[in-house]
Amino acid sequence: MVCKKCDTEPVYLLTSGVRLCRSCFIKYFEKKVRKTIRINNLIEKGDKICVAISGGKDSLTVLNILNTLTKKKNFELFALLIDEGIKNYRDFTIKDAEKFCNENKIKLHIVSFKDELGYTLDEMIKILGMKPCTVCGVFRRYLLNKKARELKANKLATGHNMDDEAQTVIMNQFKKNIDVSARLGPMTGVKDDKRFIRRIKPLYLMSEKEVGTYAFLKQLMGKFTECTYENDSFRGDVRDMLNDFEMKHHGVKNNIITSFLEILPMLKNKYKNKSTINACISCKEPTSSDQCKACELKDKLKEKA
Ligand code: SF4
Ligand code: ZN
Repeated sequence: MVCKKCDTEPVYLLTSGVRLCRSCFIKYFEKKVRKTIRINNLIEKGDKICVAISGGKDSLTVLNILNTLTKKKNFELFALLIDEGIKNYRDFTIKDAEKFCNENKIKLHIVSFKDELGYTLDEMIKILGMKPCTVCGVFRRYLLNKKARELKANKLATGHNMDDEAQTVIMNQFKKNIDVSARLGPMTGVKDDKRFIRRIKPLYLMSEKEVGTYAFLKQLMGKFTECTYENDSFRGDVRDMLNDFEMKHHGVKNNIITSFLEILPMLKNKYKNKSTINACISCKEPTSSDQCKACELKDKLKEKA
């Protein structure tokens, strides 16, 4: 079996059964990401885009592709890395992020939980006795939005891929959080609310396996490392379940996303007036209740430390 397009040795088998060689796979991947950007109008002339990076395959892939588009589409970009303080994990990915940004002359800002919040994630979970991903998610979202806004970005690009989004859709179903699903999609947030930086997900239609292959073929990162808390989460259980399904029934993840995109406009319409955005009583950051989740956790940390 050879690459369908150029008769050379294939490196990737698409779910459609088509085999592609290295060069055709890279072309296929970049073209599909550019199409996702174009169809969903993710980037406009004059944008200042903050790319949230971890140094892992997804975020370096999105940074690499957006970096090649800056001149053509006439926008600016910089990278922002949140160092949660996860021993034997984040230290490695920070090195990959710094190397990539240095080589590609991209300005990189690093913000740490320790400097901003007083504790590393490792320390926080010992104090709070909570699931690491819950604490990590709340503070990461909080710092990404706050720092991207302070650095004058009007959009925040993330490396979320199709697997991530399919997991989130299913998790919201399992937890009866349909109003949260109404806020998903390739672009989220409200255009005219300056407090929330709009999020864009250029890898929305690319599977995790495709992103991993692209990052590997383009040699975007060093050794693959996984967060030490990766398996200790509800998301981890949903991910394993979906991977198992995908092995037995090719295309289920893609089908979850395609059908979700079909009902998303109806969900957005149904929940459009149900979430008011207030300023947090403690930190003034945007929140749907009186106090934001980050300040609730900061109070708990003060109480229990
Ligand atoms: Fe944070 Fe959990 Fe991701 Fe680790 S796996 S980086 S703790 S959200
Ligand atoms: Zn707050």
